[in-house]
Amino acid sequence: MIGDDFAELKLFITGPILLRDEVRKAALLPEYGHRDSENIKRFGSIMSNLMTIAGNPEGYTPMIFNGSGTNVLEASVRSLVSDTDKVLNVSVGAFGDLFGKLSEANGKNLISLKFPYGQAIDLKILEEALVEHKPDVVTFTHNETSTGVINDVVSVCKLIRAHGALPVVDGVSIFGGAPSTIAEARPLMYCTSTQKSLGLPAGFGIGFVGDEALKKAEGVKNRGYTTDILAQITKARLCQTLTTPNGTLGNQMCVQLDYIVNTETVAVRFKRHEEMRKIAHDWVAEMDGYELFAQDGYRSLSLTTVKTPAYMTIDRLKEVKEHMRGHGYLFDPGYGKINKELQEQGTSPIFRIGHMADIMPDMLKDYLEALRGVLSSFK
Ligand SMILES: *Cc1c(COP(=O)(O)O)cnc(C)c1O
Repeated sequence: MIGDDFAELKLFITGPILLRDEVRKAALLPEYGHRDSENIKRFGSIMSNLMTIAGNPEGYTPMIFNGSGTNVLEASVRSLVSDTDKVLNVSVGAFGDLFGKLSEANGKNLISLKFPYGQAIDLKILEEALVEHKPDVVTFTHNETSTGVINDVVSVCKLIRAHGALPVVDGVSIFGGAPSTIAEARPLMYCTSTQKSLGLPAGFGIGFVGDEALKKAEGVKNRGYTTDILAQITKARLCQTLTTPNGTLGNQMCVQLDYIVNTETVAVRFKRHEEMRKIAHDWVAEMDGYELFAQDGYRSLSLTTVKTPAYMTIDRLKEVKEHMRGHGYLFDPGYGKINKELQEQGTSPIFRIGHMADIMPDMLKDYLEALRGVLSSFK
């Protein structure tokens, strides 16, 4: 039968992620009409639970875009950066670069500021760029999934605003695992998606859109249609999507967000992510020759990046991956482009430990024990 040979692997990659059984079962709930009274039974609670997970930031409306995280990021630049604006993209890795690419691909007037892999945004260097370029909009990443770095969103947003610019944040891999900080940071728009720390399959981009962003969009031409937050807002206020949503994902999201808010609770979920980060860090500390890759003080709550010893190579990490598959796990051998660059510089690659969404501390400990065993045969 089709599917008989689909492997039941525990995913420790950084998205898509392992799904709870209850989320998998929710895929069997009835299909519904997205303009029918059945829709609000799902999306009414989805919208209010999204606000709860976000920390109930006043003046923001959650918006659901079909597609994935990239679609909502593209919507943010199309809706918020005008033809006469200068947009400064601040990147600390591959996903930061993607945000810049989206501005460039849409013909925006882009300036790029990049930090070395493993480093967070340095406020002094950012300030110099703000003074030099005087951008109108600044885009940056909350949690850089390729390098395991988490930026201080509140400080970065405050600095951007102090220089008269408007911040837009990619929070894709952290939302649902740590505080969004939207209420304090007050970005124009905060973007995320379903298949990372929220513990759902991919399929929706989620945007928290401030009232200020709705005003700003009025002055932007060629916002597109599905990427236009002004087209989206009318439906979002009715707890609907602009175009037909994935009904299965809607059912699963309704069940999962209710679980996060009312069963696990947001505070406990965030604490669990802190605990898992500590488990990963303690494990690395015990591993001879292995080191944490991300800058101290800016290490992600949803994934850990590990610098390997000199004898490790990209090809060997692929072998590690296959060994881990034999143990029933999907191992993450690191972000391909970054490891290629590291190899070209003559340094060993990094790998990633995804510890987000509904991975439990004991599951992570078991995984790391298996990984310790596999890595010990490479020397
Ligand atoms: C995964 C990810 C994206 C891309 O999201 P897709 O859902 O794959 O489109 C963007 N930014 C960050 C930080 C991510 O982790």
